[in-house]
Amino acid sequence: MDCTSENEGMHYEGMIIRPPSEAFSILLQVTMGCSHNKCTFCGTYKDKRFTIKDDGMILQDILFASRYMKRQDRLFLMDGDVLIIPYKRLLWILERIREHLPWVKRVGAYANAKSIKMKTTEELKSLHEHGLGILYLGVESGDEETLKRINKGTTAINLIQMGRKVMEAGIKLSVTVLLGVAGRERSLIHARATGELLSAMDPDYVGALTLMLIPGTPLWKDYEAGIFEMPNTHELLIELREMIAHTDLTGGLFFSNHASNYLPVKARLPQQKQQALDLIDGALAGRIGLRPEEFRAL
Ligand code: SF4
Repeated sequence: MDCTSENEGMHYEGMIIRPPSEAFSILLQVTMGCSHNKCTFCGTYKDKRFTIKDDGMILQDILFASRYMKRQDRLFLMDGDVLIIPYKRLLWILERIREHLPWVKRVGAYANAKSIKMKTTEELKSLHEHGLGILYLGVESGDEETLKRINKGTTAINLIQMGRKVMEAGIKLSVTVLLGVAGRERSLIHARATGELLSAMDPDYVGALTLMLIPGTPLWKDYEAGIFEMPNTHELLIELREMIAHTDLTGGLFFSNHASNYLPVKARLPQQKQQALDLIDGALAGRIGLRPEEFRAL
């Protein structure tokens, strides 16, 4: 949706995405695109050059929300990498949200390892005190080789440290991991290493998505050239099982209920780990049905 006048609505530009858990949030676009924009599987922001939107336009959108979005008590800052905004400017945005939308109880945003590194723990704590309640971090894999191949621009150890830094500042952490992203060849290595990364990071939420190959992306080209092989449905279930088996959280929620997945799983770990493994075993044995291919979506 593109809107240009203050009276017409929010100023959304290009394709916009938000985590499933922010479905009912006020969506405030403060950046465009992703400052990294190099992951080989990602086609989300290929049409956008990363920019931070003009303060005047951001304020207009906050004022629009203050008039028409009084029933939504969560707000999600878009696009891909809002935490890269310099601290003082981000603080200004959070202050304006608090001033004009006092009913908003939680502000969320996407982050990446680089943008978390660029903020001190003190700055993150201050952002938290000004309303930033949750950050969503794309981990994708705990396997160093896979992280290199997909051009994630970071390492497993750095991801663990940055995830812990967010939680130390009091901000909730939700991470995503990507089933299938290591291909057939490294499927189980990726599953184990990702489980180990998650155990070391111990986030509040883990969302497992299943890779969907997007035409035009570098990974799609590798797939077409036969360099990348996507695991089949059965192998993806085994990968999910192996990942959960290697994940030890102290009360975090592991879920794979995103529309891209074949089997929805939701388990509080460690209590419901065995239940989740049993459910996957049921699906592997054909006792539990899977989401049909045509109903999968990004
Ligand atoms: S996956 Fe995330 S970090 Fe990577 S290019 Fe896409 S939006 Fe940017």
